[in-house]
Amino acid sequence: MTAKISAKEKETKKKLRKQKKRTMRPATASKGVEVRYRKDLLKVLNKARKKAEVKIIKLLKRYEADYIADDYSEKIIKGLEKMLREGQLADAAAERIAKKAVNKVDADQKRKLIQNIKAAVGVDASAIINNANMAPQINKALHENAELIKTIPSQHLQKIEKMVMQEAFKGSSAKSMIEQIREIGAVSERRARVIARDQTSKINGALNEARQKQLEIEEYIWRAQIDGRERKSHREKDGKVFRWDSPPADTGHPSEDYQCRCTAIPVFPKSWGLT
Ligand SMILES: [Zn+2]
Repeated sequence: MTAKISAKEKETKKKLRKQKKRTMRPATASKGVEVRYRKDLLKVLNKARKKAEVKIIKLLKRYEADYIADDYSEKIIKGLEKMLREGQLADAAAERIAKKAVNKVDADQKRKLIQNIKAAVGVDASAIINNANMAPQINKALHENAELIKTIPSQHLQKIEKMVMQEAFKGSSAKSMIEQIREIGAVSERRARVIARDQTSKINGALNEARQKQLEIEEYIWRAQIDGRERKSHREKDGKVFRWDSPPADTGHPSEDYQCRCTAIPVFPKSWGLT
């Protein structure tokens, strides 16, 4: 009796293994890649805060009597202008950080796609994947990320500028403005974290798509991350098959939508000769 059950169990397990084998694991970027990118972005933000924000805080304290008594302070205006100037991130610095992140996602995506295809269907796709021209996708990602990175300090400082302009001329205290600067800092930090996560996933998604197309994979299975945080429009697509040449109108391909964590698992074409 026991032997019979275990034989049946064995059969089921074998079947499940076979099914599982056919479905490739997603070639998503490792968590470490995102973590490194996040660190770099927070460094950019903190540099702006140290360099520019600290000075404006000093001015707010020093000239508090001026702007409380009067609705205008030349010193504060000059200080804000200087803060915005000094807080900008140079193009070259932004490009360096973007390049580092994009290269890491690229290397990771490439390695995993080769590995996971091999594990799923035993095909060595390394020759095609290694020779594929990814320059258009890489350059697009580099440009977009460098632009985004520059907005991290600039948006942060612009928010401070706007707040100080409003509050100082209302006669608010330095203490309340410094408190608001801190709150703006927390928001900017969250934004930097979101950019690191979202962009890591987007770069990965774009390279995944381009590489699958190079392999003449025309269709993919939508794989959503279902954990309660996913959107209905993404959850509903989980397990369904889509064509690379026809993105869903409401969401685009996996990872294209804002903060999308979904992935595209290749449907291996008949031309691969898999049975
Ligand atoms: Zn999604």
